[in-house]
Amino acid sequence: MAKKQTPKYIFVVGGVMSGVGKGVTTASIGTILQSKGFNVSLVKADPYLNVDAGTMNPTEHGEVFVMESGLETDQDMGNYERFLNKSLPRENYMTNGMIFKYVIDKERALAYKGACVEPTYHITEEILRRLKEVSKKGDSDIIVVEIGGTIGEYQNAIFLEAARQLRLKNRNDVMFAMVSYLPIPSTIGEMKTKPTQNAVRQLNGYGINPDIIIARSVDPVDKKRKEKLATMCGVLPENIISAPDVSSIYDIPINFEKDGIGNRMLSHFNLKPKKKDLNQWKGFVNKFKNPKGEISIAVIGKYFETGNYVLSDSYISVIEALKISAAHAGVKANLVWLSAKHFEDTKNLKELKEFGGILVPGGFGETGIQGKINVIEYARKNKIPYFGLCYGMQLLVIEYARNVLGLKDANTEEINPKAKDLVIHIMPDQKEKLARGDYGGSMRLGSYEAVLKEGSIAQKSYKAKTVLERHRHRYEVNEEYIEVLEKKGLVFSGKSPDGHLMEIAELPVEKHPFFLGVQFHPEFLARPLAPHPLFSAFIQAIKNRE
Ligand code: GLN
Repeated sequence: MAKKQTPKYIFVVGGVMSGVGKGVTTASIGTILQSKGFNVSLVKADPYLNVDAGTMNPTEHGEVFVMESGLETDQDMGNYERFLNKSLPRENYMTNGMIFKYVIDKERALAYKGACVEPTYHITEEILRRLKEVSKKGDSDIIVVEIGGTIGEYQNAIFLEAARQLRLKNRNDVMFAMVSYLPIPSTIGEMKTKPTQNAVRQLNGYGINPDIIIARSVDPVDKKRKEKLATMCGVLPENIISAPDVSSIYDIPINFEKDGIGNRMLSHFNLKPKKKDLNQWKGFVNKFKNPKGEISIAVIGKYFETGNYVLSDSYISVIEALKISAAHAGVKANLVWLSAKHFEDTKNLKELKEFGGILVPGGFGETGIQGKINVIEYARKNKIPYFGLCYGMQLLVIEYARNVLGLKDANTEEINPKAKDLVIHIMPDQKEKLARGDYGGSMRLGSYEAVLKEGSIAQKSYKAKTVLERHRHRYEVNEEYIEVLEKKGLVFSGKSPDGHLMEIAELPVEKHPFFLGVQFHPEFLARPLAPHPLFSAFIQAIKNRE
């Protein structure tokens, strides 16, 4: 057997400004190198002091993505898994907080044996140790590390320093890609390279020169500007990759390949492509861009109102899961964001008539709850396909208890612990954690098994007896109410293997075309090349109706 190559590292850094798609760029590099026959791992190094992303408000930071291991991360990890079509281990996500906490805890335990513990050396050493773990765990040929933030910030400097040190020791195994932005000011009408030149100078201050520049702009970068950037930044002209705006993020790998980014990267490492196959990806993008029809889905949530802006980033995995399943079903999903509060007034419910389906995603706290319950009741009575995710399932159970069982005071302990009928209550171990004030990373998190009920919508959709799905919650269906709920027609079609935790609730298909809620987050497992069976079943139910 040929000797395994030492792993190669590509560090992706951002220049000029944030928000130009460094995450999807990293993910796309992953798709491309994987398509060339390499085992690729993608890593995000976030500058935050939060030990994980679980404690951050989604309106501020976007969706909290949950990994198989239960680690709560930045939404970029979701893009990585979607673009690679594989689950990544927890080592692939790190924050400054996580690294500093680990090193400081070690110091407090005297593990450094009296040494002066310093950011440069001890923190960088810990970052590099984690990268080594990534390579071991993933048996990776190439590891692409996205360094969060933009060049010139204080906060991400320690990651750059670790990267610089790694390059010192392994000159030929490390490369730097800078994702930069080239503005076209409307008063000038010309694409300007100077901000990128300055960003490269700043990167030079860390002792690093980029090997490749991914030039983001509204338009493609022309030859003249490529040559200018090459000269001024000390990068080969063929290593300036044009990255114009595209209509769908799934186009990016295909677009990058037009400038041959994959082979440029491989040649830096003296590697040759083992195969050439973006075909499956292209097949998906083709379906995505050429739908034969359209469906409309109302998403009822609360994490998209910040000031004058609507931030659908908080639900990015839900959006992608819907769009992916729709594309595979040959239709385009038009998603409309509706604020739950708006439906507290039942007069507004008739606005929902025009939608093919309704989805209530995960959530926390009291805001908009009655609105969501009203919407679920409306979907149930009017036989509009309804899909509830996590909180959306708990509220389905509350709606059913209130309106079908007649338990008017049915509620979740999260909102009203004194309610007479707590059909949703806190899990016992969670109670202790909250009493201790232990909020970080302490929910029921990560992958758990569910056993499916033969013949149910869930079982027929998954075509399996058991499934593994990712969770993120503190509350659950109260077992005391299961018998009465089932007697009145609600089916618990997915349960934990010991039978105590209700993972899926649904109405039989004879009663409603699709009225289903899941205690987990199926959106985290929906991928372009592997659409999620439940999202696909939801989309099919909408299609059948239209
Ligand atoms: N707030 C609910 C719970 O903690 C639901 C969580 C969610 O939707 N992710 O159980």
